Amino acid sequence: MNLAVPFVDTKHTDLDQLMAEACLIRDRHWGRTVTYSRKVFVPLTNMCRDTCAYCTFVKHPDSPEANIMTPDQVLRVAKGGEAKGCKELLFSLGEKPELRYDKAKQALAALGYSRMTDYLRDMCALVLEETSLLPHVNAGTLADDEIDILRPVAASMGMMLETISKRLHQKGEAHYACPDKVPLQRLRTLERTGQRRVPFTTGLLIGIGETWEERIESLLAINEAHQRHGHIQEVIVQNFQRKPDIAMADHPEPELEDMLRTIAVARIILDPQISLQAPPNLSKRHIHYLNAGINDWGGISPVTIDFINPQHEWPEIRQLAQSCEQAGYQLQERLTIYPKFHISSDPYLDEGLRARVAQMSRTDGLARSQFLEEIS
Ligand code: SF4
Repeated sequence: MNLAVPFVDTKHTDLDQLMAEACLIRDRHWGRTVTYSRKVFVPLTNMCRDTCAYCTFVKHPDSPEANIMTPDQVLRVAKGGEAKGCKELLFSLGEKPELRYDKAKQALAALGYSRMTDYLRDMCALVLEETSLLPHVNAGTLADDEIDILRPVAASMGMMLETISKRLHQKGEAHYACPDKVPLQRLRTLERTGQRRVPFTTGLLIGIGETWEERIESLLAINEAHQRHGHIQEVIVQNFQRKPDIAMADHPEPELEDMLRTIAVARIILDPQISLQAPPNLSKRHIHYLNAGINDWGGISPVTIDFINPQHEWPEIRQLAQSCEQAGYQLQERLTIYPKFHISSDPYLDEGLRARVAQMSRTDGLARSQFLEEIS
């Protein structure tokens, strides 16, 4: 049986009706509080063995811009974020470049490592030792042993599922020659992190050539993983952005209505306890997302740019708070790990991080904000 069938018609359902249904679910489970995480972004390496047709982040090892950040560089950025009141440090990196490129392997070896994940683990430990920040790692697909070494040093982890469309691996499509974007590999990471009780962030990248049915199937797959393991803390609905220097430079961007419809359907399909997020810097009209059922804006940095979409600035947090208030919502800061995952006695958070998270959070589990007066 095709489980997507009952939802496929939502492509044509009246949008206002879908959004109203989604908002009812959101209001019941999340109220009128909308959250964000104050983060600093560390692009540990911009080399990657994949070549997604929409990516500007990735640099070929022959490029003068190809880079692995040194421990000193990581700490400098981390401390800059700490000074600005950030609580999350997001490690973002390309997938396993050392397995494809000798130059990446040599650059990693010069730092004393043969595997990027081991270096990432040690950089998370360094951040924990030297700063008050909580690492969140976005390292793509992960094997069991990689999750095991990262879990004690990361309060949460993430990997965008993006889509479960296999079609997009054909020549000329978005995921051609991208071994880590094979849906089975990404679903395995969802499964493995669930088995290991990792609070996990995932999501869809919409508008990269997938059909509406494939979008629905992707949401159902995420929800099924959550039903098995209870570990999906948030789902992001992210809209494809056209950029001049990508293979998909002429591909159309999703319209606002497409975003609203996808957000609303995501809210209807997903377990209501999963937070629903859409990035505020990828549409000038992002405030409308609140009317489609989101309850979170994701990570916003007062210090570093969005390295994945460098042409799109983060909104100013005070302004975002005002826009939310005018729309009837209260903006609140959260940690990278959602309250449900650290307040409960379930072992979602490594024991070694529990005291730090408790010290950073209020009784309701959201962030204890020390910088309210100078929020920027
Ligand atoms: S989107 Fe991610 S996996 Fe794809 S090329 Fe860019 S860094 Fe690599």
